[in-house]
Amino acid sequence: MRPLALILFLFAAVAGAAAGPTNYFCVVCGRGPLTGRLWLSKWGPVCEDCYRLENHCSLCGLPVRADDGSVKTGDGRFICRFDRTNAVLDVAGAREVFADVRRDLVELFGQGFALKFPDVTVNLFDVDYWSEQGREDHLHKFGFAYTRQARNGDCTHEVVLLSGRLRTEIAATAAHEYTHLWINENRPAEHVMDDDTTEAICELSAYKLMQAHAQPAELEKILDNPYTHGEIKTLVALEQERGIGSILDWVKNGTTAKLAPSSPAPAATVQSQTVPPTNARPPLPTQLSLGGLLFDGRHYLAILNNVSFAMGETKSVRIGGRSLQVHCREINADKVVLELAGRPEPVTLTIGEGKFAP
Ligand SMILES: [Zn+2]
Ligand SMILES: [Zn+2]
Repeated sequence: MRPLALILFLFAAVAGAAAGPTNYFCVVCGRGPLTGRLWLSKWGPVCEDCYRLENHCSLCGLPVRADDGSVKTGDGRFICRFDRTNAVLDVAGAREVFADVRRDLVELFGQGFALKFPDVTVNLFDVDYWSEQGREDHLHKFGFAYTRQARNGDCTHEVVLLSGRLRTEIAATAAHEYTHLWINENRPAEHVMDDDTTEAICELSAYKLMQAHAQPAELEKILDNPYTHGEIKTLVALEQERGIGSILDWVKNGTTAKLAPSSPAPAATVQSQTVPPTNARPPLPTQLSLGGLLFDGRHYLAILNNVSFAMGETKSVRIGGRSLQVHCREINADKVVLELAGRPEPVTLTIGEGKFAP
């Protein structure tokens, strides 16, 4: 299982239109040339009316309306017309991604990574497929893998993947879930494995696949994901040191619950750049982000997790399941300086990239 990272409200830049017409046309409704306040989303300008629309793309945050080519998933999430082409919305698309991922992983890791029982049923599910009640970390799940073993040892595999995500993200999840199936087939019952290690091995597959596909943003997401409590970083370092073969071999023949820690590299062959943090606090799954700045011709407003702040204002912002008191001390061209309840030092956030896990 993989958790759903926070979906950021992405207005990555700002356009200030003080007065008079501009060359901008709204990418949502097509109206223009726009005057007055407007927004620049990652897809282009958005007019004030569209900015106020109730529904937003669950992938990029762009406002959506009924007639603009956006689509709605079975559980009510909207996908804008720009993301729609790269999103997996039906089971045929999901099966295609899974088949590609499986082929790529066997190519990467070798024939030993093929399944002995090759039949895998792949399905798509919506957000409310299973209840998230009782989970304290507010993590959603991206996928699930299940193996049923018959008395004679035959295995039947099933994978379910969350609908309405981008192809690349679904591929990372598919790699993770495929690895669960492989572990289910190859781990002997007497080899009890630590949960975080198991999940980290599955994440390592996703990591290696995203590396092969040159997806640096996905690599970063995998490393930052708190799901394995930092184990993924240990595994990435171990893989660099010993190769994937030794990790897969440990699943089949190991006796310990965890993989032996990375040995200190001999002085002559320092090659690992990833130093696993031993007791670093795992990052929390939620973030405070500066989505954009709104310019009304005279003043800037900062948008933090969808709440607008004028300079000097204090408001509370919802992050995950909690609210945080935020004081907006300064707004500059592309960043804000904030004072957060319970933090002695001010925090600076930059548009788009700025994130802060309290
Ligand atoms: Zn518009
Ligand atoms: Zn979108």
